[in-house]
Amino acid sequence: MDKTDIKSMDFDELTEYVKGLGQPAFRAKQLYEWMHIKLAGSYDEMSNIPAALRDFLKENTDYTALETVRVQTSKEDGTSKYLFRLCDGNLIESVLMHYHHGNSVCISSQAGCRMGCRFCASTLGGLERSLSPSEMLDQIYRIQKSSGERVSNVVVMGSGEPFDNFDNLIKFEKLLTDENGLNISARNLTVSTCGLVPNIYRLADMQLQLTLAISLHAPNDEMRRRLMPIANKYSVAELIEACLYYICKTGRRVTFEYSLVSGENDSESCAMELADLVRGLNCHINLIPVNPIKERDFRQSELAAVNRFKSILEKKHINVTVRREMGRDIDGACGQLRKRYMENE
Ligand code: SAH
Repeated sequence: MDKTDIKSMDFDELTEYVKGLGQPAFRAKQLYEWMHIKLAGSYDEMSNIPAALRDFLKENTDYTALETVRVQTSKEDGTSKYLFRLCDGNLIESVLMHYHHGNSVCISSQAGCRMGCRFCASTLGGLERSLSPSEMLDQIYRIQKSSGERVSNVVVMGSGEPFDNFDNLIKFEKLLTDENGLNISARNLTVSTCGLVPNIYRLADMQLQLTLAISLHAPNDEMRRRLMPIANKYSVAELIEACLYYICKTGRRVTFEYSLVSGENDSESCAMELADLVRGLNCHINLIPVNPIKERDFRQSELAAVNRFKSILEKKHINVTVRREMGRDIDGACGQLRKRYMENE
């Protein structure tokens, strides 16, 4: 049987667990603080926990603490990319970005991915497995601890499809936003999905205040199917309908990500079609010049095409920004560092 994943327990669960061991309830508070505020890397650091209890926990629980394999820091913008090893040997990557509004960490939700988006490096080797809540959290914990910088924003936009790991994602959200833990506001958490429609509805019904980002990448089914296999399962119309529901239920603005691929989805008519598609929706469009990966021959849109696309949307009064490219010199795009490391070792 698997051992108890102690760092994935919320405060109430931990309290029950500790009481079940015949320990006083305040031990739960101490343990929770060590794990989720002091970000302890092991039980050995927990100086006010009796040695006998620490020994018992070492024996009977799994204490998630990711091993840092490599850190690459961009000379251009200070962005750092972390490669972590999970306890079963799987590798994942996370990114620390510095913005004027604070530090943002982009985390992975799965080792690999099974969504198959054509331009994405994370999906090339398929899905290894989903991450536990503690493995998602610990990416942030290790980064905050080793960089000494407070993380204020989290984006679930690294490798993997978070809605393909839905229950763990929700537990992760609960732990991340817990006032007894890092206490990051749900509003400062962004979750990006390629569009698993039923889970958009589930999330909407939970009425959390997190920011939902949808990887749209095309304004119609035909074009979207060429880029993203998930588009064969859910139509653009169904996706937009689900977003509308999300907006109504939560009052939150939805972000649409649109990676611009030269000659594929960056024409003037695409921009017009996109504007028509999202007209009237409380949304924001984030244009991302596609990051070329060597296994595919997609080209990044020319700057002129990006600007033309953006100005068409602006003329139609759609909120639009072009994502600043960060960490280009350190394999910043999803899955690139992990993949290169695995190829070379
Ligand atoms: N599976 C989730 C989250 C991970 S990908 C999703 O699909 O949203 C995060 C974002 O980066 C997605 O919008 C994805 O489509 C985009 N992306 C992946 N590879 C990219 C690349 N090479 N260039 C630009 N954007 C990319």
